Amino acid sequence: MSDKSNCLFCKIASGEIPSEKVYSDDRVFAFRDINPEAPVHILLVPREHIPSLAHMSKGNEELAAHMLYCVRKIATDEGLNGGGYRVVTNVGSNGGQTVNHLHFHILGGRALTWPPG
Ligand code: 5GP
Ligand code: ZN
Repeated sequence: MSDKSNCLFCKIASGEIPSEKVYSDDRVFAFRDINPEAPVHILLVPREHIPSLAHMSKGNEELAAHMLYCVRKIATDEGLNGGGYRVVTNVGSNGGQTVNHLHFHILGGRALTWPPG
């Protein structure tokens, strides 16, 4: 489940599995969701295999801050600042997480409903 040797998002971040890249640096990788729920639906992942937000440790504080800053940069580059957008990270089974590598969904381009199901 949290085995990085067979992790889809580790393989996408390394380029082993192709994706539509949106942003990349030495710590994170962002790409378009294969099954978009909104006109803009991007996934931002750390290059390090961290199974979920629940698995982040004190040593990941700087990475966590960098990821949020990247969310803001990507949203700006995608033209989402005017209309607004949503940032989501699903954690575990009750959270609806299906890929066990930490990821932030960046959703925008339409009015999103609330609350989620
Ligand atoms: P979760 O359900 O874990 O919060 O989100 C996983 C997301 O990964 C889903 O929105 C799903 O559409 C996306 N996804 C699953 N497999 C792939 C893939 O192979 N490529 C891309 N680009 N997205 C994927
Ligand atoms: Zn991984």
